[in-house]
Amino acid sequence: MDYTAQLDTAIDRLHEEGRYRTFIDIERRNGQFPHAMRTRADGSQQEITVWCGNDYLGMGQHPVVLKAMHEAIDATGAGSGGTRNISGTTVYHNALEAELANLHGKEAALLFTSAYIANDATLSTLPKLFPGLIIYSDALNHASMIEGVRRNGGAKRVFRHNDVEHLRELLAADDPSTPKLIAFESVYSMDGDFGPIKEICDLADEFGALTYIDEVHAVGLYGPRGGGVSERDNLAHRIDIINGTLGKAYGVMGGYIAASAKMCDAVRSYAPGFIFTTSIAPAIAAGAAASIAFLKEDQALRAQHQDMAKVLKLRLKGLGLPIIDHGSHIVPVIVGNPVHTKVLSDRLLEDFGIYVQPINFPTVPRGTERLRFTPSPVHGSGEVDKLVHAMDELWSHCALNRAELAG
Ligand code: PLP
Repeated sequence: MDYTAQLDTAIDRLHEEGRYRTFIDIERRNGQFPHAMRTRADGSQQEITVWCGNDYLGMGQHPVVLKAMHEAIDATGAGSGGTRNISGTTVYHNALEAELANLHGKEAALLFTSAYIANDATLSTLPKLFPGLIIYSDALNHASMIEGVRRNGGAKRVFRHNDVEHLRELLAADDPSTPKLIAFESVYSMDGDFGPIKEICDLADEFGALTYIDEVHAVGLYGPRGGGVSERDNLAHRIDIINGTLGKAYGVMGGYIAASAKMCDAVRSYAPGFIFTTSIAPAIAAGAAASIAFLKEDQALRAQHQDMAKVLKLRLKGLGLPIIDHGSHIVPVIVGNPVHTKVLSDRLLEDFGIYVQPINFPTVPRGTERLRFTPSPVHGSGEVDKLVHAMDELWSHCALNRAELAG
């Protein structure tokens, strides 16, 4: 077997489809987000504005978070030194889990190294806890949920995206005595649309199912304390397991579930993705806890974030660009072709210092390739002006249609 040739074939396939990904080498500078320095392949540097980060509120540079992290490093050192069961549970981990449980009004929370791992580990473990479990999964669930459901060896039913009638049909077709779980998201990150939380909870009640929600793109951003859309809509008590990240709005890294004490205890005891890995560094836990505590109280950043998203959407709509607007903070501009998307992204970067990564299949369906902008309170009106001007110019230059797919 010519292994190298096989690798070439695999990589060439991506090049041919125009969806080979390249890293951009960026140096974020504390106090200057969303500005950053890019180092090109030839070593030259360029100042850029990041428009595709998920540090939605700029908490990754917030003094409250940095102070907590510095203090934790000074007090306790760098790593945790172990898995949670073998010396890797510290006061920082316990304090963060208490903060998260409180955030979601749950008895307990369980930390993972990322929300990806939290989804994968939890969803792949649940059938061990509930033999015969059927998982009903929204068709557009994140890869981490799909992977968890796929790996668990249990039964799964995929319902059409946000289609509660389809979900009802699937639930009704199964044996009423079988254990069931409905897995979905509160904000779908590629289109920025919301999951029908109440309707899904109603169906769960009717069919005796557990509910599992991914609030990764909502925690810190929605709800009076940042508890996500389930908090905003006063539905958190109806969700059995809430998944979230510490790496986006909270500006640090890590993931978690929040649930009943018994659920967390069982997942903690059975999930390999929780058991067999080093716990997050104490300083990360300290920074995340400080970020959550701050955003529980602070409404201003959340409000500014929504305002910035509205302004950007209005301005891009004003140009007639095909943006998708479901009223959330995510601003996708549909280009509809991987090659054009890449050209736009490359030109924005090289000619205007605007960094927005192309989003291609398999992250989104073919034909809906897009640029996904993530405005934040640290983007000022000057940055918006520059972006709008650049998009206007490039869109005309690339002879792309306007408002073709606007939703
Ligand atoms: N769930 C959703 C919906 C996501 O978009 C992501 C990341 O992009 C994750 C989970 C994983 O989160 P993390 O970056 O903490 O692993």
